[in-house]
Amino acid sequence: MSKSFYNFIDNEVSEIVADNLFKDERLISTPQQTAIKLSTGKEVLNFCANDYLGLANNDQIKKAASNSVVDDGFGMASVRFICGTNNLHRELENKLSKFLGFEDTILYVACFDANGGLFEPLFSKEDAIISDALNHASIIDGIRLCKAQRYRYDHSDMDSLENCLKEAVKNNARHKVIATDGVFSMDGTYAKLDEICQLAEQYDALVMVDDCHATGFVGEQGKGTPEHFGVEGKIDILTGTLGKALGGASGGFVCAKENVVKLLKQRSRPYLFSNALAPSIVKASMVALDIIENEPERRERIKENTQYFREKMAALGFSLKGNSHPITPVMLGDAEVAQKMSKELLEHGLYAVGFFYPVVPKGQARIRLQITSEHNKEQLDKAVDIFEKIGKSLGVI
Ligand SMILES: *Cc1c(COP(=O)(O)O)cnc(C)c1O
Repeated sequence: MSKSFYNFIDNEVSEIVADNLFKDERLISTPQQTAIKLSTGKEVLNFCANDYLGLANNDQIKKAASNSVVDDGFGMASVRFICGTNNLHRELENKLSKFLGFEDTILYVACFDANGGLFEPLFSKEDAIISDALNHASIIDGIRLCKAQRYRYDHSDMDSLENCLKEAVKNNARHKVIATDGVFSMDGTYAKLDEICQLAEQYDALVMVDDCHATGFVGEQGKGTPEHFGVEGKIDILTGTLGKALGGASGGFVCAKENVVKLLKQRSRPYLFSNALAPSIVKASMVALDIIENEPERRERIKENTQYFREKMAALGFSLKGNSHPITPVMLGDAEVAQKMSKELLEHGLYAVGFFYPVVPKGQARIRLQITSEHNKEQLDKAVDIFEKIGKSLGVI
């Protein structure tokens, strides 16, 4: 029992609290949906879930999951390569490959693991990884675990990306890969995939896209940012999550060419050394994909809701980031204002979280709202009204 260690930890925690950066977890006591109850009994409108298509509490999906527990058991109690691969795992991998237009897919228990275990088996010190400055933490960590040369380009800046590509050529990189989020989650903005693919072609680089905030609802058929930009077939590696629009439980995946997936199944450490995804999640995720293919009206609704909400908020004078993605950041600048606003919104029945440094750059604090296909007009109007009231009282508008 090292006293100095525990003192050190106590100080660290106190510092986070003193800096107003401590993240308190609010307890909710209902399933995830557009209106939820907090453990205090208070009912609030929910504008901060990644449940873009309202599938987290969908009856068909819940039924598939509960039936699967009865039919297929609760857990696999094994990694995939020992005795943890059920027919269902291959079925879902094939279904994802077909839906997203890739040769093959490998499942992980989270996209954090998919990104974390992606780079090290495929790239080594002869190679170059060129990464957007605002990429998700899991991509950053995955790159850290790999011996490849690292290049970081300014966020969505194509000149900066081209300079990195030139630099990598100059350094005789054997293989080059550009890594980017498809949608940047703090901003609700899209990576410029069309331009990125052009540069990749020009410099003979691969393209890796993390489409966690797009799979299922971005693009005409919900196939994500490659479909949105018309660059299907030009993406070498696509990673995604089952934990957001696809039912919101957990799980991640990598789609790529067959041999890339084969090699990942041999060498990717989070895949080799971690338990297989529970069968109930696998089965229910297949139902989620069916719903996504058969119910395009959900995508229509999320588009309409997003446009409606963004127009109303902009008309009130709020400054929003992005333009068409359901992630709708209301820019406030000051961290204290964001915290105060988030607190008062909740008191008035609207649950939306404030983000500030270090999650976003200093001076760019914001409230991030996420619109879903299941918010009804009344809920959207009520949210706008609450924002208007509190925005005025805090002098934001
Ligand atoms: C949510 C998210 C992840 C992590 O996905 P999990 O399946 O929850 O681990 C990775 N990348 C991006 C861009 C994300 O938004």
